Amino acid sequence: MASQEIEALSSALARLPGLGPRSARRAVLWLIKRRETSLVQLVEALAQVRDTLVECSTCGNVDTSNPCGVCADPRRDQRSICVVEDVADLWALDRARLFTGRYHVLGGRLSALDGVTPEDLTIASLLDRIGAGGIDEVVLAMNATLEGQTTAHYIAERLEGMPVRVTQLAHGLPVGGELDYLDEGTLAQALRARRPVG
Ligand code: ZN
Repeated sequence: MASQEIEALSSALARLPGLGPRSARRAVLWLIKRRETSLVQLVEALAQVRDTLVECSTCGNVDTSNPCGVCADPRRDQRSICVVEDVADLWALDRARLFTGRYHVLGGRLSALDGVTPEDLTIASLLDRIGAGGIDEVVLAMNATLEGQTTAHYIAERLEGMPVRVTQLAHGLPVGGELDYLDEGTLAQALRARRPVG
């Protein structure tokens, strides 16, 4: 019978994406055996994240400053916005180093099944950013899933009549493909071959 502390840590870890109760318990045991090294590092890294990371109020990225490093970088193309579902997608695209503009994180995807409506996403603030002017291109970089594509379609409709070119990632993307699982070459290719919506 494990102690209450170990149970508490195990159940906290078990809620992480990709981990279940069994792998969480294994991770806890692994950490306990490496108390002075890995456990200390983990505690420090977690505290660092808790104390320093903030959400960018412009694009929704997570960084140590607000506005984030991407939004604040004057070398970035200010006239182009790439719309992604999650922060992980932003990071994946930025690792591929092909997109030089700025981003907009929706905070999810439209889903009738999960009850996610346009109001649950940051679509209104995206429209505000574009409405403020100075934007030439909006790249829709949703996942190649049904929900991702529904979301892209919805946003493209909302952008109709606004003076921006709306493009979307080329369908070299595998169907069902999630951006942050793609290798950088595939991602770069999809971005390079982006095409107009509609
Ligand atoms: Zn930002």
